[in-house]
Amino acid sequence: MKVAVFSTRPYDIEFLDKANSEKKHELVYFETSLKPKTLRLAEDFDAVCVFVNDALTKEVIDGLVKLNIKLIVLRCTGFNNVDIESACNSSIKVLRVAGYSPTTVAEHAVALILTLNRKTHKAYNRVREGNFSIDRLSGFELRGKTVGVIGTGRIGAAFARIMKGFGCNVVAYDNYPDESLKNGVVKYCSLEEVFNLSDIISLHCPLTPATNRLINKKSLQLMKRGVMLINTSRGKLIDTDAVIDALKEGRIGYLGIDVYEQEEKLFFKDLSEMVILDDKISRLMTFPNVLITAHQAYFTDLVLTQIAQTTIQNLTDFENGNINTDNQVCINMMRRN
Ligand code: NAD
Repeated sequence: MKVAVFSTRPYDIEFLDKANSEKKHELVYFETSLKPKTLRLAEDFDAVCVFVNDALTKEVIDGLVKLNIKLIVLRCTGFNNVDIESACNSSIKVLRVAGYSPTTVAEHAVALILTLNRKTHKAYNRVREGNFSIDRLSGFELRGKTVGVIGTGRIGAAFARIMKGFGCNVVAYDNYPDESLKNGVVKYCSLEEVFNLSDIISLHCPLTPATNRLINKKSLQLMKRGVMLINTSRGKLIDTDAVIDALKEGRIGYLGIDVYEQEEKLFFKDLSEMVILDDKISRLMTFPNVLITAHQAYFTDLVLTQIAQTTIQNLTDFENGNINTDNQVCINMMRRN
């Protein structure tokens, strides 16, 4: 198939080309994201391939239908960036990468926790500057702490198991609990109880209308003072203004985020010589107890390989009329509802 690949970075090209070494598909790479202004780049292609911050709005999907695009392949698991109603009612199929190693993202959540807790980001800078003082670098032991997991799907379950290994008490909320975790790994409880009980809360649910701004002024009031909040899922799960207020008040003691609600304007770009116009992220960057990574939780060679291989396989399966149902976004939406 002839595929217009949007939002490509050098590593995407490297891993996709490797997965497509037999040249089964013609991949043309565009650095720009897919948006109304760049739609015409998809002219004369059979499919478009996109990532997390390409907004597949109704306007874009209608435009792709007009261009006779048959397939959208997402190089990611989440599909909150797709206008599901327009996509699923259109002639275009939408495929994603349902299963890549969940451990990669779970381990990044753990990395955020350990960095914030033991202040290794500060220790690293201090030592590089010849400052060997450990004043104010004291952290806390994870063993015996209560960790709350919201969403115990593939990533949340892997995260829960790791935290259990640290000797934490793991409590969780999911509207579809995982029976295999009930056996000594996780204690399921209500969302309110997870907020009340946890010393550390980690978000692993998808962004849906029900989870949009799940962390807001009201839910923050239910949390322990000084709670550590970790978000490797989607930025819009958090009301950033409410979180900034809670950080100022000390209600949130630590914040670790790999995702941000306005990340499409910032993440994956080198803005080091530019003025950052987003005041909320600029404010977050000033807090000593906030750690931000730019959507890199998935970023390991293993996962890049798996994403590229599944993406190429999705293209081939579509051509052969033999699609893996787990990767079909519209079928998954019907299952979820
Ligand atoms: P998954 O579908 O396996 O699990 C999601 C879980 O959330 C399911 O068990 C589901 O029942 C649960 N859930 C749905 N609505 C909920 C709600 N209202 N409250 C509580 N739980 C709810 O997905 P996954 O593979 O574990 O991925 C989780 C999320 O992680 C994705 O949706 C994506 O947003 C994010 N993600 C981020 C990165 C990254 O690099 N930062 C990479 C991959 C995935």
